[in-house]
Amino acid sequence: MEFKELTKSARGLAKSFRVTDGKKFRLAKVDPGDTLDLGAEDKPRSKEVLALGTEALAKLQDKLYAQDRWSVLLIFQAMDAAGKDGTIKHVMSGVNPQGCQVSSFKKPSAEELDHNFLWRYSRALPERGRIGIFNRSYYEDVLVVKVHPELLGRQLPREKDRGGKKFWEERYEDINAFEQHLVRNGTVILKFFLNVSKDEQKKRFLDRLERPEKNWKFSPSDMAERGYWNDYMRAYEDAIAATSTEWAPWYVIPADHKWVTRAVVADIVTNAIQGLDLSYPEVTAEQRKLLAEARKKLDAE
Ligand code: AMP
Ligand code: MG
Repeated sequence: MEFKELTKSARGLAKSFRVTDGKKFRLAKVDPGDTLDLGAEDKPRSKEVLALGTEALAKLQDKLYAQDRWSVLLIFQAMDAAGKDGTIKHVMSGVNPQGCQVSSFKKPSAEELDHNFLWRYSRALPERGRIGIFNRSYYEDVLVVKVHPELLGRQLPREKDRGGKKFWEERYEDINAFEQHLVRNGTVILKFFLNVSKDEQKKRFLDRLERPEKNWKFSPSDMAERGYWNDYMRAYEDAIAATSTEWAPWYVIPADHKWVTRAVVADIVTNAIQGLDLSYPEVTAEQRKLLAEARKKLDAE
């Protein structure tokens, strides 16, 4: 059963969450608490759908790896406690670790800051045949860095070049060009913004504070960043508006209900990879001959 069949809407999920007209994109118009038209009673079924999605993804990944032509880059961006880690864990749970890599990006090191802002991300891109996941990404350089421009530090030699409107527009342009370059070279890019509400974040923070086994997930800086909520929302809206392209779409995923987030992401990823028309490499007549010879030798042993 497909997840879409679970929902009463006839349109595919990808379509409902894909940002198609960046210029008109308004974060305030999308609902973080959206459960599509599903109720709590559908929760167990959504888990089934997630399981089917991850199973399908595992099979597709096997072919992706064997064919060795395409790579897939999944980008996850979100406020703290929106569920990035859990979504990555669940969606990729069936996938062969050999064909998959997760890169988490934190505060850049001194060495990283000495390079152009895309450098550290370029080094982590997935090779052909592999799925690469960016847990945070170069989008942080137009999100956290836009909210706290002092982070730019010594980046760019001339002070007058830093932090103005033109500066951010050029970063969006650079990102779009970088992504187009990757797509032209055989990378499929899907970008997910897990859209959690401020209320739900508060609940999840409280949960992290209350449960000792979750304490480690909480850092005092999370509270500080929560204080900049509106600035972040503006930065996200601007970034999504400027970088929703045909070649590298953004999906704004409702994130107040984890079961919805996970099932929707699994469905979108599976469908996108399915769209690649993957196949196992064909065995040539010559290779077949070699295989037959090998078989003969083994039989004769
Ligand atoms: P977490 O993912 O919760 O472990 O936190 C990682 C932290 O690194 C977050 O506070 C991010 O905002 C921060 N971070 C990630 N990328 C950058 C960047 N390019 N510049 C500054 N801070 C960043
Ligand atoms: Mg954190």
